[in-house]
Amino acid sequence: MLTRAEAATIRVFDINTGKLKIVKGFGVSSGFLSQPPIRLGEGITGRVVLEGKPFSTDDVMKVPYCVHKELARLEGIRAIMSVPLKTREDTIGCITVYRKKAESFAEHDLLLLSIFASEVVEAVEKTRLIEELKKQATFDLLTGVYNKNTLIRELDSKMRLALRHGYDTSIIFIDIDNFKNFNDTYGHLLGDKLLCDLVRVLKLHCRKTDVIGRFGGEEFVVIAPHTDKNEALIFANKLREIVCHHKFAGKDNDVDITISAGVSSIPEDGLDVTDILKKADDAMYRSKLEGKNRVTVWADEK
Ligand code: GH3
Ligand code: MG
Ligand code: MG
Repeated sequence: MLTRAEAATIRVFDINTGKLKIVKGFGVSSGFLSQPPIRLGEGITGRVVLEGKPFSTDDVMKVPYCVHKELARLEGIRAIMSVPLKTREDTIGCITVYRKKAESFAEHDLLLLSIFASEVVEAVEKTRLIEELKKQATFDLLTGVYNKNTLIRELDSKMRLALRHGYDTSIIFIDIDNFKNFNDTYGHLLGDKLLCDLVRVLKLHCRKTDVIGRFGGEEFVVIAPHTDKNEALIFANKLREIVCHHKFAGKDNDVDITISAGVSSIPEDGLDVTDILKKADDAMYRSKLEGKNRVTVWADEK
């Protein structure tokens, strides 16, 4: 290793837990790697990240605020040098190198580690960007469920599974009734909130194996594997009833909304993804024509 260190770790700030966790380790035991994440400002590395300044010592045992003295002792670690991982905006973690001898790090060690840290920052930022792009390409950003493209891919794969194993799978196409009125009365922001609340209600009553996605504006699709058309009709009606009786938030009041739904099934109604979705959509449209707040199965169309 460039800095004549026997071991190194990279800690990165985890937005979900608000803590710094080790994402990479070299030359340390698995016990050392599995130490719990630390808070910003906690211990040596927590301070490096909080203050955004490098730190080094020839002997961790002499650092009063070192919280991992016991771990260091077990690992045989004495000297430490830690450098913050800084983006243009903030500090996202730190890279730390360890020596087993109580021997100071030199200026050029710090320079080398700082150069390496800037490379690590670039790699972490690239990985995060890729993850963000993947998320945006997969999920609906407002409600957090699958977007249309992912839904179609999921339907395709669920259909293949259903065919291979010989079971039925159904599609429930859901559209909120008179949603334009809701927006006109309560505004777009509460409209957005209602979409999120509806998704929460639907998810709560779907099985773990069901797939839910946003097909478009106020249209959602549930893919229900192992569910034939009759079962899907019962299930869709259950969802419709639940939504119908749920109190959604208006401005200062509770608001009732209803949904219309259409059902189509694999293999009964065909094996083409676009066609099977259109059939569920057509059946939903029939529910609208017949007065809304109802479920229609595509067979009714024939
Ligand atoms: P119907 O009962 O026939 O379905 O009537 P509707 O008013 O629900 O349907 P329509 O297609 O006339 O209007 C859909 C409305 O959904 C219009 C649009 O403003 C609203 N909408 C679509 N996407 C969003 C969104 O992301 N947020 C909000 N707040 N509203 C949306
Ligand atoms: Mg609608
Ligand atoms: Mg619609």
